[in-house]
Amino acid sequence: MPERLVVIGGDAAGMSAASQARRRRKPDDLEIIVLEKGNYVSYSACGEPYFVSGEVEDFEDLQVRTPEQFWKVAIQAKIRHEAVAIDTDRGTVTARNLEDGTEEILGYDQLLYATGAEAIRPPIEGIDLPGVYELRTLDDALALRDLAVGGATKAVIVGGGYIGLEVAEAFHTRGLETTVVTMMPTVLERTFDPDMGAKIGDRIEELGIELITEHKVECLESRNGRVVGVGCADQSIRADIVVLALGSHPATRLAADAGIPLGASGAVSVDERQRTAVDVVWSAGDCADAMHRISGKPVNLHLGTVANKTGRVAGINLGGGAASFPGVLGTAITKVHDFEIARTGLTEFEADAAGFDFVAAEVGSTTAAHYWPGSSPMRIKMVAERGTGRLLGGQIFGGRGAGKRIDTVAAALWSEMTADDLAMADLSYSPPFSGVWDPVNIAARKVGELAAGN
Ligand SMILES: Cc1cc2nc3c(=O)[nH]c(=O)nc-3n(C[C@H](O)[C@H](O)[C@H](O)COP(=O)(O)OP(=O)(O)OC[C@H]3O[C@@H](n4cnc5c(N)ncnc54)[C@H](O)[C@@H]3O)c2cc1C
Repeated sequence: MPERLVVIGGDAAGMSAASQARRRRKPDDLEIIVLEKGNYVSYSACGEPYFVSGEVEDFEDLQVRTPEQFWKVAIQAKIRHEAVAIDTDRGTVTARNLEDGTEEILGYDQLLYATGAEAIRPPIEGIDLPGVYELRTLDDALALRDLAVGGATKAVIVGGGYIGLEVAEAFHTRGLETTVVTMMPTVLERTFDPDMGAKIGDRIEELGIELITEHKVECLESRNGRVVGVGCADQSIRADIVVLALGSHPATRLAADAGIPLGASGAVSVDERQRTAVDVVWSAGDCADAMHRISGKPVNLHLGTVANKTGRVAGINLGGGAASFPGVLGTAITKVHDFEIARTGLTEFEADAAGFDFVAAEVGSTTAAHYWPGSSPMRIKMVAERGTGRLLGGQIFGGRGAGKRIDTVAAALWSEMTADDLAMADLSYSPPFSGVWDPVNIAARKVGELAAGN
């Protein structure tokens, strides 16, 4: 009899793991069953805003691999099957077939918990009205794309995080009047320092997207049973479409009910091999914690990069190999039209919370030599440890070519470079790409001077 691996959740983490395990162990050695409650497996949530905007035209492009393709390699990808209970004593998962409501108890020898994250839905009056959406699944993306081309003229996005901004960009690209409403003083409040967030917000407004800050939405207004406004009474903002983008939390209710230990963030605690504290139970992706390489503390990040890598590590180990996940920096990038926004490591706020004595420097520069046609302004902020000059984090925004510079900063953080190391790092130069000192060199020099007390 082959061993049986049951995977709960059929997207980035779950399918990366299933694929790695299958590559290493043949079907007569390992049976793999994936339970996915949605209609698709292995899809690109990251591409969804660009499908809504029309930049990605073909819906099929968002499906990396179909269930049929997985079945062909003996991975039983069961869509519309929800795991509704886990019994870790017996080693079973109860799977509900969402087509007919029947339930089946599946025994497992190994279990991978890869349920991802869920959108936060606060108790806003009217949250269930027709016309109120989230953007998480491909079905959400299809619905929003149809609305975007279906005659709506005004979209209001509640929440100013990455997904909120990407959805706003999508509707704006489609020609809708677009407003982002956030209760925070700036956009990207949780991932950027407020000074950077405020400037990012200013630029987004210059691009034609209205931004309303410090406005807590407690009510959605309706007419004839459909949403027509965000906020009620004197605060109402007209809306044909409302998208809630209020962040996400790890989908761990099932794990918690089964007694699988969670960390302080509410995500499943795992070791560097993606093992939970329960024998033969593994976890990866948005639902699991990961070790932050700078703070040394577990964090729960909802990023496709992390989900794919942790899924791969789990799958290699489930396949009999020996892999460890080396941790995260929280490197992330997004854009609004040609305006690019990226970060890595710790912000000032996070450095403070992690107990560092730090300095921060922010510099303005350009994406290419200042005289190059099309060169545009960019800003870069770096955080470093006072005294040692060890780099702790970076934040960047600006025109085309600004954002991916964050990867240089991330690589420096990854290898524990000091600001002085990065200030003199041999980065490339030609006028169409940068000044002779790349903005990364310049910002590192500035923060290095401050760290040294100069
Ligand atoms: C609109 C959008 C844009 C994004 N853009 C980016 C980006 O540009 N860059 C980036 O790095 N990240 C981005 N992300 C985040 C990225 O998509 C996620 O980090 C990644 O998908 C996480 O993969 P996962 O497998 O852990 O979880 P998920 O993708 O959430 O998959 C988990 C799956 O488990 C299923 N499931 C949950 N519970 C059960 C159950 N009980 N039984 C059966 N199935 C279950 C769910 O239906 C889901 O399909 C974006 C996310 C969204 C929503």
